[in-house]
Amino acid sequence: MRTVTTKRELRAALAQNEATPRVLVPTMGALHVGHASLLRQARELAGTRGCVVASVFLNPTQFNQAEDLEAYPRTPQQDADLCEACGVDILFMPDAQQMYGDDRTVSVHEGELSRTLCGASRPGHFDGVCLVVAKLFNLVQPTDAIFGEKDYQQLAVLRRMVRDLDFPITLHAAPIVREKDGLAVSSRNVRLSSECRKLAPQLYASLQSAAEAYRRGATVGATCEQVKRQLEMLSGVKIDYVQLVHPVTLRSMAVESVGEFPALLAAAVFFGGVRLIDNIQIPSFS
Ligand code: AMP
Repeated sequence: MRTVTTKRELRAALAQNEATPRVLVPTMGALHVGHASLLRQARELAGTRGCVVASVFLNPTQFNQAEDLEAYPRTPQQDADLCEACGVDILFMPDAQQMYGDDRTVSVHEGELSRTLCGASRPGHFDGVCLVVAKLFNLVQPTDAIFGEKDYQQLAVLRRMVRDLDFPITLHAAPIVREKDGLAVSSRNVRLSSECRKLAPQLYASLQSAAEAYRRGATVGATCEQVKRQLEMLSGVKIDYVQLVHPVTLRSMAVESVGEFPALLAAAVFFGGVRLIDNIQIPSFS
C-alpha cells in the first residue's frame, strides 16, 4: 500500500497504477468494521488487477458545529493499518489546507434531497459532502465508488450529484454493518455513555418492529409514531426525526397513506447528546 498526503503525490501514485477498475472508498477516518466491509467490497470489485483507493479526510465543510468536528475521533495509524489489511493500494490522507487551500470560492449545492431528514437539522452538511466527494472524484478519477447505506441520505444525494453533473462513475451501496445487538457501527458510538450504549440498540429494534407493522398495513403516521413512542420512554433520549420516505426521491409519504412500497424508514435520535442515525429499507413485495 502506498500512503500519500498531497495531491501531487496522489497524482504520481495514480500515474503508476492505471489499472481498472479503479475503486474509491471515501472515509473520514476512525475506521471500524463498517468501513472495513466497504474496503473489502472495493477489493473484490477491483479484483486482483484493479486498483483500490481509500481516502481518510476529516472534512470540515460537512460539519456545521465546530464542537462536533473537534470531538470527532482521530486514529490515523490504526486507519492506515486497517486499509493495508483490507487490500487498499493507495491511501490518500490529506489535511484541510491541502484539500481546500484558503481562498476557495466555488461550492456544490444539491437543492432537493438535502432539505429533508438529516439535511433539515444539519444545514449545509450535504453541500459539504458533495463538495468533498466531487473533489475526490476529480482527483482520483475512479471508475467506481462505494458508500454505505448507513448514511442512506448521503448515498441518495451523491447518486443525484453523479447523475446531474455527469460523473462517469458507478456508485455502489454497501449494507449496514451492525454490532451483535443490532446497533449500527459508527465512529460516534465510542462517545456514548455506558447507560446510553445499553439503550442505543433500541433504535434499530424500534425501526424493525415499526417496519413490520407498516408491512402489515399500518399507516405511515402510525408507523412513525410507534418508533417515537418506543424511544421516548427511554431516559436521556431525544428524537430528531422519524420519517417514512420514498427511497429515491426522499419525499415524505402522507401520514394516512398505507402500503406504499418501496419505502425507507429513517430516524435520527440523540442518546445523551450523541446523535445516531439508522434506517430500514422496506422493499416492494413480489
Ligand atoms: P464516514 O467515515 O463516517 O464518512 O463513513 C465512510 C463510509 O463508510 C460512508 O460511505 C459510510 O456510509 C460508511 N459506513 C460507516 N459506517 C458504516 C456501517 N456501520 N455500515 C456500512 N457502512 C458504513
